[in-house]
Amino acid sequence: MCTNRKWNMSNAQQTLAILKPHIVKNPFSLNQVKNIILKSNFEIVCLKRKIISIEEAESFYSEHKGQFFYNRLVSFMTSGPSELMVLARENAIQEWRLLMGPTKVFRAQFENPCSLRGQFGLSDTRNATHGSDSPESAVKEIQLFFPEFS
Ligand code: GDP
Ligand code: MG
Repeated sequence: MCTNRKWNMSNAQQTLAILKPHIVKNPFSLNQVKNIILKSNFEIVCLKRKIISIEEAESFYSEHKGQFFYNRLVSFMTSGPSELMVLARENAIQEWRLLMGPTKVFRAQFENPCSLRGQFGLSDTRNATHGSDSPESAVKEIQLFFPEFS
């Protein structure tokens, strides 16, 4: 589902966010995360709940192929429904990554305990959320999961 409103403000940017399966499985966490997103001035432009396929996860995380955590990452990301979102606001890519906090949960908990990963991350694999890391990856990732929107 995507809103009809066209984002034509010159300073608005879009990013792909994923709420990972352990968040979606827990209605209380899911609700809290969504409230934080909206309070942080993001607009949820598109939202889709789906089980990411193995092919999609392998393609999405292809830059990490060969890393020790790759297989467990693909298996976790395909283990149940995720919520995929296109988020929009000024400087969305950087602001969403700031809100998520560091990739590694122990760093998130010590350095930014109020971040999403600091509050909701359970391990380095189950670190609650994904966010695009550059304008180029945002375009690619939105195209992968929301081809109808791109
Ligand atoms: P991100 O852009 O902050 O999500 O981090 P990366 O692109 O570096 O890694 C992608 C995902 O792989 C992360 O969100 C984690 O779920 C997982 N990951 C990255 N580094 C590690 C690690 O050292 N150990 C484990 N178990 N998972 C990792
Ligand atoms: Mg990344």
